[in-house]
Amino acid sequence: MPETKKTFSPLGKRRKKKEPLPPLRKNLSALLTLQTFVVLFLVSVVAFSLAMMYRTVITAEHLYGILSMLVPIAIFVSLVNATFSRYMYKYLDDLSKAMSKVAGGDFSVRLDAEKKQPFREVYRDFNTMAEELGGVELMKNDFINGYAHELRTPISSINGFAEMLLKQGASLGEEEKRTYLEIIASESRRLADLAGNSLLLSKLDSQKIIADKKPYSLDEQLRRCSILLSEQWTQKGIDFEMSLDAAQYTGDQDLMQHLWLNLMGNAVKYTPKGGSISVTLKNEPSSLTVVVADTGRGIAKEDLDKIFDKYYQTDKSHSKQGLGLGLSISKRIVELCGGEISVKSALGEGSSFKVVLPK
Ligand code: ADP
Repeated sequence: MPETKKTFSPLGKRRKKKEPLPPLRKNLSALLTLQTFVVLFLVSVVAFSLAMMYRTVITAEHLYGILSMLVPIAIFVSLVNATFSRYMYKYLDDLSKAMSKVAGGDFSVRLDAEKKQPFREVYRDFNTMAEELGGVELMKNDFINGYAHELRTPISSINGFAEMLLKQGASLGEEEKRTYLEIIASESRRLADLAGNSLLLSKLDSQKIIADKKPYSLDEQLRRCSILLSEQWTQKGIDFEMSLDAAQYTGDQDLMQHLWLNLMGNAVKYTPKGGSISVTLKNEPSSLTVVVADTGRGIAKEDLDKIFDKYYQTDKSHSKQGLGLGLSISKRIVELCGGEISVKSALGEGSSFKVVLPK
């Protein structure tokens, strides 16, 4: 029902003024009215054509008869159309208002898609869209929080230790100075890694092929990666085992190193003290298969298909270093090599990441 507004006329008489129809309702009514006229016009054309076909002489009486039939039909159809347009408008108006809310950044809005009505499917799709957008927004906020956290921590420790060296440098022993400088160096490396990973992913996203391919020893590369991480796994008392077939691979060595360091680095990061990690390389006739398995905390079933998404972390508290970019970078590298990456995991039991590279 259109809302009415009470106004006062200049003569002092109270009268009711109709609010103008909203544009959506006006357009809907106009379309339905047009449709009515088109139908009535066609009916008249058919009637006259039939009359001509059967050579009936159309008299004024006939015309009067036709008009007296057409006019009530037109009025009836218009009334039906008005009711119909009001009915349709109700649902379209709800949809339009909900869309405006989403456009304004409110992703919590939902429409009633249970009730039987002509726009049920559209309402359902709208709800799915709002939910997806809400999820992306949540992930974006989570990423921004994570990024801020990841930036703040190294920056404040670099700042703290540099100030300490400046203010108390003269009174500090050589050993102490060295420790502080080592912290500053490793924290700035962490910052550089962070920026590097973000840049690498955006570069890989736009890259279509691997241009810089050279043959090299894959087993040697995997061994080197384990040595690069040895400080971290020995500190945690992790038993690190390798079983590697000799294998040559033709690819971009730097990118491949990034992939193995991500997988092995995660295994070390998510495996508690005293756990074990194994890396195997199988040289098969048409492919090379690398498996990095750990006895760490594992990944819940519902998280398994999301861990390769950008910025996704199962631990929302960011208690572990990282931004949820490592596995999306790894997946992209494997895709560019024409290979496949998959994961098997059980919560509390461990995870096993498998990479199959075509030869
Ligand atoms: P992050 O920087 O958080 O490590 P990744 O993209 O490398 O980002 O990993 C995404 C998420 O997948 C991690 O936050 C972690 O929850 C989970 N994950 C990855 N590897 C392992 C693993 N070996 N064991 C348990 N969880 C893992």
